[in-house]
Amino acid sequence: MVDLRSDTVTKPTRGMREAIAAAEVGDDVYGEDPTVRELEERVAGLLGHEAALFTGTGSLANLLGVALLVRPGQELLCDAQAHVVRAELGAHASVHGVTTRTWHAERGLLDADEVLAMVAPDAGPFIVRTAAIAVENSHNFGGGTVQPIEQLQRLRSGALERGVSVHLDGARLWNAHVASGTSLQEYGACADTVMVALSKGLGAPVGSLLVSSADRIAAARDQRKRLGGGMRQVGILAAAGLYALDTHLERLADDHAHARRLADVLGVDPATVDTNIVIGDVADAPAVAAAAAEEGVLVSALGPRILRAVTHLDVDEAGIERAVDVLGRALKG
Ligand SMILES: *Cc1c(COP(=O)(O)O)cnc(C)c1O
Repeated sequence: MVDLRSDTVTKPTRGMREAIAAAEVGDDVYGEDPTVRELEERVAGLLGHEAALFTGTGSLANLLGVALLVRPGQELLCDAQAHVVRAELGAHASVHGVTTRTWHAERGLLDADEVLAMVAPDAGPFIVRTAAIAVENSHNFGGGTVQPIEQLQRLRSGALERGVSVHLDGARLWNAHVASGTSLQEYGACADTVMVALSKGLGAPVGSLLVSSADRIAAARDQRKRLGGGMRQVGILAAAGLYALDTHLERLADDHAHARRLADVLGVDPATVDTNIVIGDVADAPAVAAAAAEEGVLVSALGPRILRAVTHLDVDEAGIERAVDVLGRALKG
């Protein structure tokens, strides 16, 4: 089986399981889990922020991060394909009363000036007040695209001038960093709150982090508990994250090379494949996915014409060659 549906399907490696087994733990709701603390400090440092909070999912970290910046009835701007607005089941609205307004972005790519022109920080009692802007990097439904750092910096400075905050959905910020060579700190400096996931390309079974100032993270810690997200001896999961940062970060470049190898067969220009996601426009995506599945290659039909393949550490070169072969035949019908 070659499973390219998502980079979330990876299973913990032997080394990761050993790190999990050896983890020192304590009650994290009491702030006494040394492995969680180590992970939080390490990730905050990597992104150049004061503090971080471990969460069970990226969706929870996004939910907490946006709530720090946007009050009920205020507005979050994001692109129409953003995970926060398409794939979190309305959480920001239903839990925290956040309204959203979206822009269209070709392949998810940010045009800072266009977004800044939408900002309405204070337009009196008639217009919803913009409190924050969310950007996604790399962009999932955009096809793993990396946001140019110049655009992120332009957005950040323009947002600051207008008194508006920036949330960075960096579920795959690691991929963006490895692909572009832009440092994690440079990316971190472009946002007030950042979410990063351990359970995508890094291959940990569970876990994400929200990164921000110490005050904001203290507030997010309270809200996490309020929402039922306080966890006890969770160092066994943090240990997987620390292990992943040590051993699975640089190898993301392999996944990116594998994705470029898949591009051709899906009718995509390899030069437009920045990271580990390939999104092809095909005549009948569900039919192609079903035909490939019969031969043991799994991809996602995200729409009637949208086929997505995601590379990750459980698919090696041989698996990619098999996928190219099977998808090629499935596409010929
Ligand atoms: C996967 C993902 C998330 C959410 O992560 P979960 O752990 O699945 O909740 C958020 N944003 C993006 C861009 C993602 O790809």
